[in-house]
Amino acid sequence: MMDENARAADPRMRMVTRVMVKSALDSARRAEALGLGRDHIVLSCKMSGVQDLIAVYRKLAARSDYALHLGLTEAGMGSKGIVASTAALAVLLQEGIGDTIRISLTPEPGGARTQEVVVAQELLQSMGLRAFAPMVVACPGCGRTTSTLFQQLAMDVQSHLRAQMPVWRRQYPGAEEMSVAVMGCVVNGPGESKQANIGISLPGTGESPSAPVFVDGEKVTTLKGADIAVQFMGIVDGYVKDRYGRNLQGE
Ligand code: SF4
Repeated sequence: MMDENARAADPRMRMVTRVMVKSALDSARRAEALGLGRDHIVLSCKMSGVQDLIAVYRKLAARSDYALHLGLTEAGMGSKGIVASTAALAVLLQEGIGDTIRISLTPEPGGARTQEVVVAQELLQSMGLRAFAPMVVACPGCGRTTSTLFQQLAMDVQSHLRAQMPVWRRQYPGAEEMSVAVMGCVVNGPGESKQANIGISLPGTGESPSAPVFVDGEKVTTLKGADIAVQFMGIVDGYVKDRYGRNLQGE
């Protein structure tokens, strides 16, 4: 196949896709011939190039019905690794290709390995395929606010929700599908806040130091004072208990 590839019009692509696909399928068939059940086989053909990965898995999906494990290997560090992995996997997942995934990130020295899992979960959740933890929608910030309050609150809420999920998953099933909006001003914030299950619009530049809170599209209160974050977290916890506690009672 290598010799044949050298004579091909597009040698590299042909070699990569054809050899990988043939090798994977031959190995799987050999395993089946030796007695391994088809439902115990998952094929993994990791590649380090986005287009190569997409091409290989499209071919595998077209030529077999084995379960497929997706992952871009040697994706790299930080945003480069996340973007490259997402670009490749999102295309395949959108086409219904892939049964398990891994995001391979090179951690920074001392960095957490768990970032791979968080990115994988966020990819699936952003695409609407699975829900793992409530989504926090945060505005990007603009000239209407010079405060970093909304950034800090968005980060705190996200950490709080993720930390609670192991307990909430058991006690409040469905809480992982909730959305929380943290917006930076009361001019444009309420619109987005109303779209979320719970939303808060923090005061922007020159606005009075108060923060309207919306629950299921309705304004329920306005928070004031130095402990807005604590008050808001209490509202989020109460909402989860009331709304998703019912799911368990109804079982
Ligand atoms: S919500 Fe307000 S601060 Fe945030 S981006 Fe929109 S206008 Fe700017």
